[in-house]
Amino acid sequence: MKIAVFAGDGIGAEVVAEAVRVLEVLDLPGMELIEGDVGGAAWRKHGHPLPQQTIDIAHAADAILFGSVGDFDCDHLERALRPEQAILGLRKELTLFANLRPATVFKGLEDLTSLRPEVAREIDLLIVRELNGDVYFGEKGTRTLEDGRRQGWDMMSYAEDEVRRIAHVAFRAAQGRSGKLCSVDKANVLETSQLWRDVVIEVAAEYPDVELSHMYVDNAAMQLVKNPGQFDVVVTGNLFGDILSDQASMCVGSIGLLASASLGETQTQYGTKGLYEPIHGSAPDIAGQGKANPMAQILSAAMMLRHSFGLEDQAVRIEAAVASALADGIKGGDLGGSAGTRAIGDAVVSRL
Ligand code: ATP
Ligand code: MG
Repeated sequence: MKIAVFAGDGIGAEVVAEAVRVLEVLDLPGMELIEGDVGGAAWRKHGHPLPQQTIDIAHAADAILFGSVGDFDCDHLERALRPEQAILGLRKELTLFANLRPATVFKGLEDLTSLRPEVAREIDLLIVRELNGDVYFGEKGTRTLEDGRRQGWDMMSYAEDEVRRIAHVAFRAAQGRSGKLCSVDKANVLETSQLWRDVVIEVAAEYPDVELSHMYVDNAAMQLVKNPGQFDVVVTGNLFGDILSDQASMCVGSIGLLASASLGETQTQYGTKGLYEPIHGSAPDIAGQGKANPMAQILSAAMMLRHSFGLEDQAVRIEAAVASALADGIKGGDLGGSAGTRAIGDAVVSRL
């Protein structure tokens, strides 16, 4: 079990250290951690945010635990040398096309969400967003028409293999949860969406144990705040997923609690190779103060054990330890509490 550990900038190193402690406490047989430099930290040391030696470590590893990148001192650099290029470059290098974001409300935090507590309590869903296609990567341009009006366009497109591979990720994720998958599109208006829907239905034949439904994206946005309890796994394209995953994450609470996985098609001897990171950034405003909430990073490590190593039991153990710490009132500053990074790490570790 080779795990690449890329802590990065700002609070990255602080929260990754706690996630690593959690992994070490589990005492997993054969676990090997290999550190690498990314982001502004890598630029300082090697002159590049994603040096070749880091790419080599990423290729050799079965999974990557990623902190965060982002550093004001790099603002003057040309785009190719900015810290953010590290994460974009890794996604591209490893063809990580599926972004998974779980959203669930922890007990005792219902009052902190943007929904009514009784509605928020129902949420336990996973959004699977396609990352490498759609309108973001289609032909785009601007021009001035003959009559002087300016025009801009971005082509939305998906090839069937791009839909098929994300559908497989979503169906497999649904199998690992309660077996319900909702595919979100706009098939009543968009050809891209009609193809999306057709291909998802074809793939469904291989997963008879998963119950598939379809929903238009406008309705999905509404249902997500009206009756989010109806969803388990949601799969959707890049653009719709961008919007819905941010919407879902704010329905459940704080930035310091939300984890994510980015997966590709590479299978290792243990599971699907992936990169795991919190959804928050490097938080330069609180870096170096021991204040950052490491729970999102710790929960990212749990996702890693689940998806890249097939260690569902261990993932659940970590999630239960985090939930228990929260239920006991151990809260970071992002949740209006006063527990520091190390104290939160201690609370999780002691519950394991
Ligand atoms: P980046 O460009 O690096 O993604 P950002 O501008 O998106 O950064 P974040 O770094 O995510 O923003 O931080 C947003 C706010 O949330 C900041 O005020 C930060 O201090 C706070 N924050 C982010 N992560 C945490 C955390 N783990 N614990 C506590 N506060 C956090
Ligand atoms: Mg950000």
